[in-house]
Amino acid sequence: MTIGILGGGQLGRMLVLAGYPLGLSFRIFEPAEESSAAQIASRIRAEYDDYQSLYHLSQNTDVITYEFENVPTQTAKWLSERVPIFPGVQALTISQDRILEKSFFRDLGIRVPRFVAVENEQQFRAGVDSIGLPLVLKTTRFGYDGKGQMIIRQPADLATAWTKLGGRPLILEELVPFDRELSLISVRRKNGDIAYYPLVENHHHEGMLAQTIAPAPSCSTKLQQLAEQMARTTLEALNYVGVLAIEFFQIGEELWVNEMAPRVHNSGHWTIEGAVTSQFENHLRAILDWPLGSTAVIRPTAMINLIGCHPFAENALALPGIAWHWYGKSVRKNRKLGHITICANSESERQFLIEKIKSLQLQIEKNNPLVADLKT
Ligand code: AMP
Repeated sequence: MTIGILGGGQLGRMLVLAGYPLGLSFRIFEPAEESSAAQIASRIRAEYDDYQSLYHLSQNTDVITYEFENVPTQTAKWLSERVPIFPGVQALTISQDRILEKSFFRDLGIRVPRFVAVENEQQFRAGVDSIGLPLVLKTTRFGYDGKGQMIIRQPADLATAWTKLGGRPLILEELVPFDRELSLISVRRKNGDIAYYPLVENHHHEGMLAQTIAPAPSCSTKLQQLAEQMARTTLEALNYVGVLAIEFFQIGEELWVNEMAPRVHNSGHWTIEGAVTSQFENHLRAILDWPLGSTAVIRPTAMINLIGCHPFAENALALPGIAWHWYGKSVRKNRKLGHITICANSESERQFLIEKIKSLQLQIEKNNPLVADLKT
């Protein structure tokens, strides 16, 4: 079987790495010259509106998936008329637009932050009055890793936010006073079987995922069940096939949805070492309509993203229970270049190792002037 993957970043690379032991072949479709996935699989280098190349992809693959949710929906739709593509076009369309996405969850009876669509300054001012401060103003499309958004805490921030983001379709949301951020990775096979990983706790830095603790500490069974119920409702409403990530804000024993990603997700990288079957393998099994693998947790795990830093595998691997993942991308400031998984025997050992890795990272940065140069 040959799987086509739209997008050639690290998520595609890890899908390929999970698929080789299963005997699968891959074809990456990625317009950019640099591609993490194309370093380890054959690729078609073309733009997403190059229909001749897309035709070639459709002729040489059994099933297509995507690892990047900004694939143009026309491209996905055109391909879906020729070869199965999972998750479907509907999930892709909804996840590309924050207004569609929040409306979709709200219509399913799933709680989301209060929001209004903003197309002009008048609507912006009216939205501020109706929701009240503090707020977050975001672009409705193409925002990721905290890009294209601004927090508005006081009236003085209003003009700055509008100057920075005004002129594009926007969404204004209440700033949720959450206790913590959690996410749930679920997976639905073509025949309708569903499996869930445990809720994980996510820590962001400047809007970008920095760290995931898996499973999330102090999570009640009730909270896990609530998350699973929301995921099931979403998966079934979309007749979804593949891995779905849902990001939540936890407030007491409530979960509000922030957003979803119709693909394998950064907060599921820990599953490579921390769960019986990784999210990558389960995504492939799901889209092939193969039996899903166990999502059981093997041990307490943490994932630390390596963002805009120099590799330090040799140093990190001297610590016990460390797995090193480097994506083969050129080093640039604020870029996800790799991640570390910490596999511990207890929650306290996990915390100890997180601190160790963090101080090692600081030390490497301090002693390595090359990093400072590359970051500018
Ligand atoms: P997003 O791009 O929507 O996932 O936002 C990135 C991060 O910004 C989230 O993980 C939160 O830490 C924060 N954030 C986004 N929207 C809100 C909100 N409505 N209330 C509080 N924090 C938010």
